[in-house]
Amino acid sequence: MNIILLGPPGAGKGTQAKQIQDRYGIAQIATGDMLRAEVAAGTEIGRRAKSIMESGGLVPDEIIISMLGNRISQPDCARGFLLDGFPRTVPQAEALDKLLAEQGLKLDAVIALKVDDAALVDRISGRYTCATCGAPYHDTAKRPKVPGVCDECGSTEFIRRPDDNRETVMARLEAYYRQTAPIIPHYSAQGRFYEVDGMANIGEVTGQVEAILDRINNRSA
Ligand code: AMP
Repeated sequence: MNIILLGPPGAGKGTQAKQIQDRYGIAQIATGDMLRAEVAAGTEIGRRAKSIMESGGLVPDEIIISMLGNRISQPDCARGFLLDGFPRTVPQAEALDKLLAEQGLKLDAVIALKVDDAALVDRISGRYTCATCGAPYHDTAKRPKVPGVCDECGSTEFIRRPDDNRETVMARLEAYYRQTAPIIPHYSAQGRFYEVDGMANIGEVTGQVEAILDRINNRSA
């Protein structure tokens, strides 16, 4: 199963992506995570991406498309993949169509998480992850069961993204509406576009997403 999870920053893509990855055994590909790894490793891509990411803008299409093309040809993608944070522009969506066609693959679903703008800024400014396993948390919406200890791996180290501050969030939201939202007609025209209510609680959103994916899975079984 090959899936795109779409939605503005803070919509809950990363949280849902992890659930989907665990349930369906498909690879999770988050271009933001890949870029952060490049920045941390100080590579050429990382050097080019760093200041753009800090300002909330989008990294040039050619960098992202070649990074993604290499990633989906890795063996762990053979059972399928979930794209989180890609495509983010119409040229990226068109390049993905081409990459999939070249590899004889197809998209099964594009699932958009719909969330009110006002909620996004609060969601983003409160979020943090486990520094060891990446499990996502939030100051109010999802605290670890034992304060300061990761539910998943027991680590006591947590990190916040440098671009999760109010000013950068506004730029990221603007980039989403100006450059990413225009890809929606591209996918609704292909008949594989689904929208879920991202304002519901995490478990309910997961339920809505799984209902869509289970239907698709059963159809193709
Ligand atoms: P994310 O973790 O998906 O919120 O991405 C963090 C930042 O990485 C974004 O604000 C962009 O600067 C950059 N980025 C991630 N994915 C893409 C993409 N598909 N195209 C362009 N820039 C991206």
